[in-house]
Amino acid sequence: MRSDNPKDKDRLEAIWKEEDIVDGQRVRALVVIFRTIGCWWSRKKGCLMCGYNQAASESGIGVEQLLKQLEAAKSKFQGEEMVKIYTSGSFLDEREIPLAVRERILLEFSTCKRILFESRPEFVTEESLSTLPADKAEIALGLESANDLVLRKCINKGFDVTDYERAAGLIKSKGMRVRTYLLLKPPYLTEGQAMKDTLTSVEFASGLSDCISINPVNVQRDTMVESLFRRGDYRPPWLWTLVEVLRQGRSKTDVRVFSSPSGAGTPRGAHNCGRCDAGVIAAIERFAFSQDLKELEDLDCECKSRWRAQVELQDAMRTSVDVDRHLADDLGLD
Ligand code: SF4
Ligand SMILES: [Zn+2]
Repeated sequence: MRSDNPKDKDRLEAIWKEEDIVDGQRVRALVVIFRTIGCWWSRKKGCLMCGYNQAASESGIGVEQLLKQLEAAKSKFQGEEMVKIYTSGSFLDEREIPLAVRERILLEFSTCKRILFESRPEFVTEESLSTLPADKAEIALGLESANDLVLRKCINKGFDVTDYERAAGLIKSKGMRVRTYLLLKPPYLTEGQAMKDTLTSVEFASGLSDCISINPVNVQRDTMVESLFRRGDYRPPWLWTLVEVLRQGRSKTDVRVFSSPSGAGTPRGAHNCGRCDAGVIAAIERFAFSQDLKELEDLDCECKSRWRAQVELQDAMRTSVDVDRHLADDLGLD
């Protein structure tokens, strides 16, 4: 929640532990979300699915407050091999994280093997990269889609594919790692178009990435996507679509392709019929670590044929509205 209460500015947005992969090994990871002034693009225009400005502070957060947040993060650090630093924006934007704080963060977590953070491409420069430890740094770039039309019309990303290519190429040239985020099912695409768009993007990004994370849209509050969702003009992707993207995407590349879908199994996140969701999500989670396509075979449910029919129907009707929901409402099926 957006808050300009001075006390909140000392507090991290969130912190938790999970697992990830470093150099092919499953490791413990500390995830820290700093509260900052937030993403500059979200203040200007913003991506259509992004509610991250809710976590930002409009009046800014100073060095002292960020250092207090860092203290809180440090107190939870137990020598995890990986630390993931998020800001709901760009770690390399000095308006969010001033250079002095960036240096302190890198110093405090200098014992970990890998430190990951996110940045929009415009902050990836020779100068910003020179402040990072090349042997540890992994930078996550939210490419979302390798199609400029999708970036412009369906996401309003505020950069194009060549900006990503430049940033990813520069990161790689410094011997650092790139994690690419792809957005599964931006608004205005049918389920089938969304699947194809992400698969094309996996192929494109694999040449510049060390791993690719597929992020199905999770409908966030006060966003354009939420307005579409409320009136039945948008449905988050089916989990079957995500499974298909992981299955086919993995076959197209040697890099790790995985997903940790937030809000999965709920109406606002990627979901199926409700009966099979937990089993499918568990398989996706296992696949994230094993990369074994067998995890994604033999998944089945009655709703799979309904999903296939929806994919065909939306494409035949050339509409991205939530046909399933409208039919269910009209026929009283759900
Ligand atoms: S670039 Fe990222 S944080 Fe900024 S508005 Fe877009 S999705 Fe949100
Ligand atoms: Zn089902």
